[in-house]
Amino acid sequence: MKKFALIGAAGYIAPRHMRAIKDTQNQLVAALDPNDSVGIIDSYFPNCDFFTEFERFDRHIDKKRRKGESIDFVSICSPNYLHDSHVRFGLRSESHVICEKPLVLNPWNIDGLQELERESGFRVNTILQLRLHPTIIGLKAQLDAVSDTSKKEVDLTYITSRGNWYNVSWKGDVKKSGGIATNIGVHFFDMLHFLFGKLQHNRVHINQENSASGYLEYEKARVRWFLSTDERSLPTSAVQQGQRTFRSITIDGQELEFSDGFTDLHTRSYEHILSGQGFTLEDNRVAIETVSDIRNQKADINGDDLHPFAI
Ligand code: NAD
Repeated sequence: MKKFALIGAAGYIAPRHMRAIKDTQNQLVAALDPNDSVGIIDSYFPNCDFFTEFERFDRHIDKKRRKGESIDFVSICSPNYLHDSHVRFGLRSESHVICEKPLVLNPWNIDGLQELERESGFRVNTILQLRLHPTIIGLKAQLDAVSDTSKKEVDLTYITSRGNWYNVSWKGDVKKSGGIATNIGVHFFDMLHFLFGKLQHNRVHINQENSASGYLEYEKARVRWFLSTDERSLPTSAVQQGQRTFRSITIDGQELEFSDGFTDLHTRSYEHILSGQGFTLEDNRVAIETVSDIRNQKADINGDDLHPFAI
């Protein structure tokens, strides 16, 4: 049985990690969050030690390490801009790490972590759960099997309405979350790279607080993408059905159906990691380069290949 510590235990995604630790027959022994709304821990690991101050958590983990009871894995569910530091804490504590997406905000952060990974001998694993989605795995196998060199025409649209809280929270602060393309888009940009190969062009048409859009070209696909957290972006059909989320990926005009199969992807990710096959720091590089580049380039709505929702 492996011993886990969890950073960011009071947040939205933390219970998926608690469940994955439980589902894989492991144990959560320590958790940290400055916010103490963590009653959810009782549903999984009532004996887990809990800290609201990093310094006390650090002392506790270090004491265990010196007694030869090191934590095996530190799982990180904190806000995006803190991942870099929390990964380093995990490695310095002589633990492997499991870090939520986006691993870091900029590609050069990956270099520093790789150095520390080498020095420490411990490993950083990341949650790239769409790579474990059965439909995406099937599609990749199909794409890899054909020798057709023509590029697929892909439209990716993801509108996930968020209330006013979003812009007030760290998620709405570009310095902390990286902005919408980083925080929400990184899943999809990693999936596109996984499916369609090397990234060749990256152009941005819209880069606003609550919506972003652009064009990406990969070895095997030309992609027009649109992301939004603004409910006013929802298509009429979704509004009429009372839906607050709209997700569509079309490949050469055919809708990719993958609404199901999302529920246990954190547990699948943990199984994958515990069997030594976790996604590495390097596996994240293209997606992190993509979002960093989107964040730092000037949007130009007059460009070519506009997504239909951007017009
Ligand atoms: P959240 O705001 O609900 O949770 C973040 C938690 O981190 C909060 O409880 C907050 O108090 C805590 N925190 C803040 N500063 C901290 C610090 N210095 N030390 C320790 N904890 C601290 O956010 P969330 O939606 O749970 O997102 C957390 C992470 O998970 C983000 O990186 C996000 O991108 C990622 N995420 C992944 C998925 C996925 O599907 N894989 C989905 C949602 C979020």
